[in-house]
Amino acid sequence: MTMQFTVAIDGPAAAGKGTISKAVAKDFGFAHLDTGLLYRAVGFKTLQLEPDAITTDVAVDLAKCLTPEDLTNDSLRTGDVAQAASRVAVIPEVRDVLLEFQRTFAIRDGGAVLDGRDIGTVICPSADVKMFVTASAEVRAERRFLELSAKGHDVERAGVLADVIARDKRDSERETAPLVAAEDAVIIDTSDLTIEDAIIAANKVVASVFNGK
Ligand code: C5P
Repeated sequence: MTMQFTVAIDGPAAAGKGTISKAVAKDFGFAHLDTGLLYRAVGFKTLQLEPDAITTDVAVDLAKCLTPEDLTNDSLRTGDVAQAASRVAVIPEVRDVLLEFQRTFAIRDGGAVLDGRDIGTVICPSADVKMFVTASAEVRAERRFLELSAKGHDVERAGVLADVIARDKRDSERETAPLVAAEDAVIIDTSDLTIEDAIIAANKVVASVFNGK
């Protein structure tokens, strides 16, 4: 007998949704897809082109040609790639190309957790559980600053905060699939939570639905 169970976790950059998603997937035995990696992989490829050469058609072709190896590229975590990702993410045709893969992943046998910006609103509007993980821009920028510094990236606090604010703005104000909490999402504000407490809160939300199924 197959078992489908979809957990949709959305939220802005560095709110903790990646860590929470991985933990929920591990604790419940579900597969996990970080959908930001899809946009980062396309964004990364655009950085190898001249800015003038990046048309909608080119970005769509890059999205169509993604391979699993493209998603494991170590360079995807930089600030430049994040900005490039959010620029290609405003192109509706790019989002369309990536949609089917995400929807298929969401209904795989054994359960799935997907994290991103539009999972609960567009990709999986009928997900079993929806959460919106957020935190203040200052708290998120500080976390991202510490994470990037620990990896040896040469970054400044003010620059990281400016990047977070710019990306929030682009992601929230775009026409297609903007960053917004689904009406039926449980909001988890991690500004004053340790990551352990945030994981406990998320696991409780999932358990309350999963155990009743
Ligand atoms: O989650 P992450 O920070 O890796 O995402 C990088 C960028 O990809 C986001 O700023 C956003 O523009 C885009 N994205 C998106 N929809 C998703 C996941 C990510 O538009 N489901």
